[in-house]
Amino acid sequence: MEIVPLKLRDYSQEEIPFFHDFAEKYSAEMPEVNCVFCYSETSQSSDPFAINGRSLSFNQLIWNRIGLTTEELEAMLAHEIGHAVDKLPRTDDNQPERENNADDFAISHFFGDSLCSALKKCILSGIYSDQEVEGMKMRISRIHFNNLNQRCDLLRGIHSEPKNKWLIAVNDHWDEILNTPLNAERIRILENLASQIIGIGHTTIEETLTWFDA
Ligand SMILES: [Zn+2]
Repeated sequence: MEIVPLKLRDYSQEEIPFFHDFAEKYSAEMPEVNCVFCYSETSQSSDPFAINGRSLSFNQLIWNRIGLTTEELEAMLAHEIGHAVDKLPRTDDNQPERENNADDFAISHFFGDSLCSALKKCILSGIYSDQEVEGMKMRISRIHFNNLNQRCDLLRGIHSEPKNKWLIAVNDHWDEILNTPLNAERIRILENLASQIIGIGHTTIEETLTWFDA
């Protein structure tokens, strides 16, 4: 396959500098991607981004309405590029798996956190159907987990920082917490873990709790 770096078309750089910046930053890291960006403000879709083959369209009106930051836009763009490089064919059956693969691509490029906050904003925007919101909630939970796993892989063996110890402890107890439906019970598990790590306070527990929000 011909290798072409991120390519931009059909928009002016002044109009949407975000795309230009993204291509500048990530062309070297994502050289296998041959994406053409098409500006389609009139798109009927409620998605801020959509990909068809390697043609990526975006809807600036939608992302303005959702109020996405530059980091969140980059995360969503990384997700779409994840679709473009996904080897799994597009069928009705494997759509959830394709979403996961695209999310994992974004996570591997350190967009996990901003992808979660972008999806949370999408949910809050109220422009998506209940079914779409359900799908996003499942993705958020999974992204948090895989994101955490990736961080723990990077941190394992370095236990000096309380936060590192905390991430690893939460990672090790992820399933237990996720399968505990009551918030109070989740807090109890997290408080118990925190009691074993000096320097982990209530703020961290509260923040960690939101990872299981879905
Ligand atoms: Zn997707």
